[in-house]
Amino acid sequence: MKKLDCHTHLSPPYFTTQEADQIIHEANQSGIKIILVTEEFEDFDKVIELAEINPHVVIPYVGIHPVQRNKSLSFQEYLQKEHLIIHLLTAKISKGIGEIGLDFSPHIIRDNQLQKQEQLHIFRRQVEIALEFNVFINVHSRQAGHHAINEIEKVGNSKVIMHAFDGKLKYVSGCLERNPDWFFSIPASVQRDEKMRQLAMYLPDNNILLESDAPALGPIKGVKATPLDIIDTLVFVAKLRNVDAQDLQNILTKNNSRVLGLDH
Ligand SMILES: [Zn+2]
Repeated sequence: MKKLDCHTHLSPPYFTTQEADQIIHEANQSGIKIILVTEEFEDFDKVIELAEINPHVVIPYVGIHPVQRNKSLSFQEYLQKEHLIIHLLTAKISKGIGEIGLDFSPHIIRDNQLQKQEQLHIFRRQVEIALEFNVFINVHSRQAGHHAINEIEKVGNSKVIMHAFDGKLKYVSGCLERNPDWFFSIPASVQRDEKMRQLAMYLPDNNILLESDAPALGPIKGVKATPLDIIDTLVFVAKLRNVDAQDLQNILTKNNSRVLGLDH
């Protein structure tokens, strides 16, 4: 196992089934494995199906995102279906929990403290379940970076991927001092995003991963990202860190193995 896109969405409405199949085929040809994450309960079937068809490429994580496409989920609504997450972990079908997290962007929260509380409850529960099952969490934390870190630390997880972390670098450094095993993944948008560039330069070797966050965080704004974008991202990040691309690949290979466990 060499390359890993550790945070990807390939479900509708982002990609058609045909597009998803093609992307997975191309990723396979390029030796890229993909962690596919969900946002809502309705995504679970598609992600599991893609993983069943492509067991050597797709690693499925299921989880409930803080912002739902169609509606905001209440904690009560979450609890009614939580058993689906538990079932998929018990059956070892889902390999981790994601995409979960907190999103305190002003347009999401709009002074609605209840919305914040619901997000926190839903997030905490999933962080606890991950600890219980000893699996990784794949964490979204927009304008809530240090809140997300605090919540996870309260529960005590060590298997953590902070995806496209947009918080301050001082939170990253403090976090890694306390949690030397956590990962922060750099999205393909590092090629156009100063904040991500700073993070990519800062991260210690032990804590860096790459992701496309397909279709969202590609190198060109407005063009859908795919897992293939991590190939250029690797070269770009190696230059930023002033290392050989092969050396960075070796570091990533080691980190990717830690994320995927011994059975991959
Ligand atoms: Zn995402």
